[in-house]
Parts: sequence; C-alpha cells; structure tokens
Amino acid sequence: MGLPELTVKDVKEMFLYVSEQLKQNKEFLNKADRAIGDGDHGVGMSRGFEAVRQKLEEESYQNISEVLKAIGMTLLTSIGGASGVVFGTLFIGGAKRIGDQTSFDSRCLSAMLLGGTEAVKERGRAKLGDKTMIDALEPAAVAAKEHETSILVESMKLAMEASREGMEKTKKMVARLGKARPLGQRSLGHPDPGALSIYLILKAMSEFVEELMKT
Ligand code: ADP
Ligand code: MG
Repeated sequence: MGLPELTVKDVKEMFLYVSEQLKQNKEFLNKADRAIGDGDHGVGMSRGFEAVRQKLEEESYQNISEVLKAIGMTLLTSIGGASGVVFGTLFIGGAKRIGDQTSFDSRCLSAMLLGGTEAVKERGRAKLGDKTMIDALEPAAVAAKEHETSILVESMKLAMEASREGMEKTKKMVARLGKARPLGQRSLGHPDPGALSIYLILKAMSEFVEELMKT
C-alpha cells in the first residue's frame, strides 16, 4: 500500500497518463461533438493534451500548483475555441486554490475541483443544467468536498463517479450555451462533449491513483 497522497512527481506522471487517455479518445470525443456541435472537440482536446505532455516532460516543478498552472496555460494556448478557455481556466483556477502544497491529497483534489468550477463559471457564465462540462465538473467538486477527509483513492473515485452521473444527465438536457444551443430540443439524447471530457479526465486520474496505491 503506497502513501495516501501523491508527490509532485506523481502528479506530473498522473497528468501524463491523463494526456494519453484523452488522446486515445480523440475519435470518441469528435463523434460526441458531431452529434450536437461541430465535431472538433476530440481534435482540440487531443492537441491540447499532446502539448501538455510535451510541456510536462520538458520541465520540473516545485509544487502541485505549478504543475496545474502549466497544464492550464498550455491548454489555453493550444486547444483554441470555447473549450481552450474553458479547460485552461479549469486548471488555472484549480492551481490558484492550492497554494504551495507539495503533496496531492483529498483536500487538494477538492480545492482543485472547486477552484476550477468557480473560475469556469465566472468566465463562461454556464450554470448547472445548461448542458456543458459544468454539469460533470460541479458534482465532482461537491463530491470531493464532501469526502475531503477520506483517503485520496476513495475521494478520487467518488468524484469520478459523480462526474459520470453528471455527464449522463446532460443527455436529458437541452443546450443553452455554445454551439449546441441552436439545436434546441435536437440536442436531447446526446451527452455534452465537454462533460464527457471531464469524466475522462477524472476517470484517468482515478485509475492512476488506484494503480499507484497498489504498489
Ligand atoms: P467549440 O464549441 O468551440 O467547438 P469544443 O467543441 O472543443 O469547442 O468544446 C465544446 C464544449 O465546451 C462543450 O461541450 C461544453 O462542455 C464546453 N463549453 C462551451 N462553452 C462553455 C461555457 N460557457 N462554459 C462551460 N463550458 C463550455
Ligand atoms: Mg466543437
């Protein structure tokens, strides 16, 4: 059983794993975006996370916040479109909440997700129910907050499950923002692509933490 928290190096490794998983889901995310948007979400996320991989591999970091900030800045400048701002802001907002902590535990996860949620909502003005990534992110942040005294492997899994439920719920929502908005009722039955990305990010984080704790 490993330590219940991650070092800065583990966090960097975790996001390299996240990057790999997002790149592998390029076509899946494009397909989701083709149903209710312009079909480029997978292209953007995959380009963004390839840039993240390069950035993380090139540099070393002193604390968790620096890693998250580097990820956010990289996504912001490499994805483009609505989701560049949205996913960049998520990590930058998360980084700001964390301070100079050098270990990633349940409190850190909760701070990252809550700080990220608030920053994205402030920037993009999306609310719960608008059929955006917020519908997967905010429930995950709430779950992480509720379980911030649990061990990381536990809170991570609960946050991931909350994001999956939130993403599933977007199928029953009519889009009120972004490229899916003009579709109105026709956006029903399809999940929001950004919500799917949030779920994939948290799923990869959860898998990584689970594997690490086994060793
Ligand atoms: P674009 O809409 O520019 O084609 P993408 O297809 O990459 O960008 O991303 C679309 C996703 O971005 C949506 O599924 C949604 O989750 C997210 N999104 C768009 N606008 C907002 C917003 N204002 N707030 C939060 N998320 C948003
Ligand atoms: Mg799109």
